[in-house]
Amino acid sequence: MRVLLVTSEAHPLAKSGGLADVSSALPAALRNLGIDARILLPGYPQAITRLKQPRLGKRLQPMLGISDAMLIAGELPHSGVPVWAVHSPSLFIRSGGLYQDKDGRDWHDNALRFAFLSHAAVEIGREGIEGWVPDVIHANDWHAGLVPLLLSMRPTPRPACVFTIHNLAFQGNFPLEAMPALGIPDQWLGADGIEFYGQASFLKAGIQYSDRITTVSPTYAREALTAAYGCGFDGILRRRSDAFSGILNGIDTEQWDPSCDPHLPQPYRVRDISGKRVCKAAVQREFGLAVDSDTPVIGYVSRLAHQKMTDVVIESLPAIADMGAQVAILGQGDRNYEAALKDAATSHSGVIGVRVGYDEPLAHLLQAGSDMLLAPARYEPCGLTQLYAMRYGTVPLVRRTGGLADTVIDVSPATISARTATGFTFDAIAPHGLLSAVTRALALYREPLAWRRLQQQGMSADFSWNTRALDYVELYRDVTGLAAFRSEDLPTRTKKRESIAAE
Ligand code: ADP
Repeated sequence: MRVLLVTSEAHPLAKSGGLADVSSALPAALRNLGIDARILLPGYPQAITRLKQPRLGKRLQPMLGISDAMLIAGELPHSGVPVWAVHSPSLFIRSGGLYQDKDGRDWHDNALRFAFLSHAAVEIGREGIEGWVPDVIHANDWHAGLVPLLLSMRPTPRPACVFTIHNLAFQGNFPLEAMPALGIPDQWLGADGIEFYGQASFLKAGIQYSDRITTVSPTYAREALTAAYGCGFDGILRRRSDAFSGILNGIDTEQWDPSCDPHLPQPYRVRDISGKRVCKAAVQREFGLAVDSDTPVIGYVSRLAHQKMTDVVIESLPAIADMGAQVAILGQGDRNYEAALKDAATSHSGVIGVRVGYDEPLAHLLQAGSDMLLAPARYEPCGLTQLYAMRYGTVPLVRRTGGLADTVIDVSPATISARTATGFTFDAIAPHGLLSAVTRALALYREPLAWRRLQQQGMSADFSWNTRALDYVELYRDVTGLAAFRSEDLPTRTKKRESIAAE
């Protein structure tokens, strides 16, 4: 089975958040299962530079006023997953962010940039490339939301289409008048089409016209159907609820492995975590904190955003400092939050350390050198940082919502004795909620044996893609009616299933 994963980012080519991690790790896991999965993404400058074995590929048909676009073929470093980058200098070669300019303003032509990505995907879907034609196009988030609509517009044989929602708050809403020039005629712009509160929504296009819709955790899939979490899409999703499900994200257990992570001063593993103390001292130095192995370090690595409860974290910092813990923060995002965090670091020198910016190696070090990780969120489709934390023996403190609720098992007498506890959860979107989890965590931290067991449980949990990728395979099989595996692949699959069962 051939699957084309269409995405706006994939680690390490281009990354702004968890979507990039999923977009590189899922196809790698699918390929291990015998699925011929490949990636299509925009040819940002850094993506083209980082591609392994880049070579010029097919010239794309002139469309949407762009006549110089072509594909650059290559591979993901590390995993070797085949990649096509859409190379169009006017759309993607510019300095700034993936979606925004240097001042944090959305690029004025985002509708055109990502409509073009979708048209390119559909061209591959219909005509193939060097004899390779996908059976399934797996479109991700609003950036690829037009793919299923464009496929539906011509009822010729076409690949099946799965659409995955990584965050309902990002909707790709643009003026309706702009759509005809993007290849979407008026007949698709009504309320039963992609119209959404007076605009055209690429996210709605993805939901309305794909064969199946997924999101990235079972709890978020349920929450998305409610007015409180649906971001205006709850009714639209309820109408498609037969085709909608949640599949929990996994993590790349090779990229995120404390026993061989090149970003750590000393590796460690579940049986001997002594290296974690060396990492902790490195974090304390990096963030300007007093170097002391007994003082608990609480990490926070996150987009600085309302979703991530950064405002509540900022409000809670003085109280956390009063409890005798240190806080190390790595993040970027909302400029007001960035400024407030810097102020907190200045007024709590040596106790609160803040690094504003995006720094992948430092994110790894922070996960390894912290004792606890704050991962609060008003809503969280899946969340990856709490999974990385557990793998690194760092105990997560999370709000009980979405994928956080699905992955972190709260400490209680019952879960401690059953040896299933992995972290601390809370409910209130307010400092008292977050601080209740911090208080409980700091109390258990003073019981080294119990703490050690908690770390071990997190480190031993299986958050790999192995089992979750199989759920996607089942889905692809459902939408195509194809046997997912050619007969010669069957032994591989059987072996995988057996090894997963054995684990
Ligand atoms: P989201 O995708 O909503 O931002 P996730 O928890 O799913 O949240 O994924 C966040 C990803 O981005 C993780 O890989 C995390 O390590 C990374 N990340 C977030 N902020 C930073 C930062 N400032 N520097 C480096 N990595 C970051």
